[in-house]
Amino acid sequence: MSHAHRKTLLLINPVSQLRTGFLMNRATKCQPLSLGIIAGLTPKEWKVKIIDENFRQFKYYEADLVGITSFTATATRAYELAGIYRSKGVPVVIGGIHASMVPDEAEQFCDSVVVGEAESIWPEVLKDFESGNLKKQYKGSFTNLIHQPLPRRELFHPGYIVASVQTSRGCPMDCSFCSVSAFNGRHYRFRPVNEVLDELESISNKYVFFIDDNIVGHNSFARERAKELFRGIIERGIKKYWISQASLNFADDEELLGLAAKSGCCMIFLGVETEGIEQLTEAGKNLNLHKVKDGAYNQVFNRIRKHGIGVIGGFIFGFDHDTPKSILNRARFIRRSHIDSVQLSVLTPLPGTRLYEELRVSGRLTHTNYPADWERYDYYEPVFKLNRMSVEIFDQYRDMAWKSIFSWPQMISRFFRTLLVNHNLKTTAIVWLNLYHYRRIFLFGWKRPYN
Ligand code: SF4
Repeated sequence: MSHAHRKTLLLINPVSQLRTGFLMNRATKCQPLSLGIIAGLTPKEWKVKIIDENFRQFKYYEADLVGITSFTATATRAYELAGIYRSKGVPVVIGGIHASMVPDEAEQFCDSVVVGEAESIWPEVLKDFESGNLKKQYKGSFTNLIHQPLPRRELFHPGYIVASVQTSRGCPMDCSFCSVSAFNGRHYRFRPVNEVLDELESISNKYVFFIDDNIVGHNSFARERAKELFRGIIERGIKKYWISQASLNFADDEELLGLAAKSGCCMIFLGVETEGIEQLTEAGKNLNLHKVKDGAYNQVFNRIRKHGIGVIGGFIFGFDHDTPKSILNRARFIRRSHIDSVQLSVLTPLPGTRLYEELRVSGRLTHTNYPADWERYDYYEPVFKLNRMSVEIFDQYRDMAWKSIFSWPQMISRFFRTLLVNHNLKTTAIVWLNLYHYRRIFLFGWKRPYN
């Protein structure tokens, strides 16, 4: 009796070899959901394996076909790993947000590029592989998120503390530095609530990250749908702690906040970005602009916090209107603001964004030795000529600012400030641990992995 050769699809999640960043903490590592989805779309005749550099550096593994995902900072590594397989004659397909934004670059390093969302096109890629006719590029259309196969979670490394779940795609906003709308479109698409609930019931992790760009959306339909999801979690008795991302309008609806908290929301990440009117204007962050003009940032934070949900504020440094003084002002604003945890980054022009195009056209990009330089696009250093100061001055002030935000007196006072409104020792501990992880990442996390 002869067995047909069972083909192996190897999926790789590459990590940057330059700096650790978020990967230094197990708690902030994120499952490669897209690879799980590709595995779910692949017929049973295939053997599928995921190599995940979040946990272990790449070692060669035999395969018939290789699929690699990457974002901009991991593109350098993705191309390097693609080269290893191609030199052995194994075809490599690259997808993900970076390759989708610069497919002509990506196709030089692989056999096929999948541009956009892969669901609609993956069966065709496999068919063309089988007949030896892989095309250079495939363009996926926006996926109808109803009845899609689930990600094969059993293939993820068991070391992940937090499970990633997606409930919607797309964002109608148009922030200058963000490539979400270019990749997922400006219309929301939702998964049916029942399908999300079924998936949650199948997940054993206690902690879930809803990776949606805005879990409550920007219109009343999206808000009602979020409430339906939260009610469903409560009614089915699904006991998870969950985290997600949202805009400041998360705080606008008391009923929604109550349901979110009751369904297990322990932290929400808000893209605050900056307290500066000029900086918000240049970023096109209109929603925040309205709130900051009313002086309402702290009201927003506190409305959320009094429901027992910790607020993580995301802030950016390096806007065109930033000066040494405004960097210190932002740090002071953060220290005094009523948030529970802080995420910091340097403004980074990712390909596919308006910001990238503006800086490219005006000749201000300083790191353009691609693909080697992509790994420096990781939110840690300015990769463009700053408008109002040199990189050296920026580094000096940024350093001062970040250290002051995460000083121990600040850490301790934030713990008590959280406990005072949160009243719950368990969620206070979760929120403070998040702050502690971020402290390690933002003060010490920028060294090479694997050394
Ligand atoms: S930063 Fe947030 S609100 Fe702005 S476009 Fe991106 S996902 Fe939408």
